[in-house]
Amino acid sequence: METVRIFHLKNLSRKTYSLAREGQVESGRVWTFCRDTHKKARDSGEKWPKRDALQKLTKGKFSLHSQSVQMVCHAFLANVDTACKLKKINPRARLPYKDKYFYPLLWPKQAVKWEHGALTLPMGRGRESLRLKVDLESIDFGACKLIWDGNYQLHVTIDTPTPKQEPAPPLCATVDLGQIHLAAVTTETGKSLVVSGRGIRTLKRQRTKAVGKIAKKQIRCAKGSRRWKKLQRAKKKTNSRAKKRVRDLRHKATTQVIDFCRQEKVTHLYVGNPEGVQRKNSGRYHNQRMSQWEFGKDISYLEHKSEKMGIVCSNGSERGTSSHCPQCDLRKKIKGRLWECPQCGLKLHRDVVGSVNMFPLGFGIKVEIPNHITYLRPGELRLFRCSSSLGTGQSSFAKPSKSSRQESCVVQATGPFRGSLQEAHPL
Ligand SMILES: [Zn+2]
Repeated sequence: METVRIFHLKNLSRKTYSLAREGQVESGRVWTFCRDTHKKARDSGEKWPKRDALQKLTKGKFSLHSQSVQMVCHAFLANVDTACKLKKINPRARLPYKDKYFYPLLWPKQAVKWEHGALTLPMGRGRESLRLKVDLESIDFGACKLIWDGNYQLHVTIDTPTPKQEPAPPLCATVDLGQIHLAAVTTETGKSLVVSGRGIRTLKRQRTKAVGKIAKKQIRCAKGSRRWKKLQRAKKKTNSRAKKRVRDLRHKATTQVIDFCRQEKVTHLYVGNPEGVQRKNSGRYHNQRMSQWEFGKDISYLEHKSEKMGIVCSNGSERGTSSHCPQCDLRKKIKGRLWECPQCGLKLHRDVVGSVNMFPLGFGIKVEIPNHITYLRPGELRLFRCSSSLGTGQSSFAKPSKSSRQESCVVQATGPFRGSLQEAHPL
């Protein structure tokens, strides 16, 4: 199966930088050309151009490697297909219509070469190739993509062999996704894992506040002025930093879920889709938190990672799972993190209750109340560090080591993550 490795390309030479930028502009021109050709055919009622026709029309017209041009055409056609599918659900969806001034540079597997510690990305006949120093020693890599996201990033597709699964008896587990606790997993064997999501929530709140502060200053500047541009840069930097940190934590958290499933020899995983919870109107403050909740990413990461480990993953409704008692079926509105049943006296973490109640929905079975719950945070925390010219405090996370994950509950820290440190307490 395919995975993508991201290389952050910092300190590029001026020459490489301008070469990449020119390539992106040219790639954008290819896109716009495809858009124009397609639109012309649509307007005149002709047959829509397919892959071969677009490839023929773009041949030799652009100063890029021929296969890079072809890949932009393929990406465009894939986009058209998706838009057509969306149009069936939502008639307001539009086929590609915008001009693109920049577009990522793409290369298929056969166009790239790695030797002497550098990756050679051709830019076409008679033009200098891009050479990037990335470590791909003994890695079976495929297609490459050069994108701009605050700085240049190289996305390399890597083929990873799926591990051979020994035939094992089927064992089910369910995942309840949440914001405060990113995932609560319960297995049939009576074990549970709760991974905290407070770190991610804090990062998002921090970002919103910092961006709000900058936007307030920007209102007082003339649009396009030097100060306005400076503030715009700061805003982008804050956003991209938060995005990277959140992505990192999300990967770590979902990896922990899958590690736990592997350890417990889970074969089937059911992830509850909390779409209805997010759409509910809960007031302006909570609505903001809810709109920032990226559970779709959690689901896709879990699906991808479980496929890699040979676990069958599915997702579906989680309606009403957290509002009734798994023992006596009593319905009540919950408050706080602890589920307390006034009828049978059950006391359990509310997200674990959600995942236990998901078994009848996902697999049509009922399971026992878990007798062992592990509480983890996605990664180790680094102490609070104040750094920003605009007075917005940022903190960073250290890479977690496998041994430190369990111990992370006892790390002493100060600063904005005090909230997440309360995770040391089981509830
Ligand atoms: Zn009860």
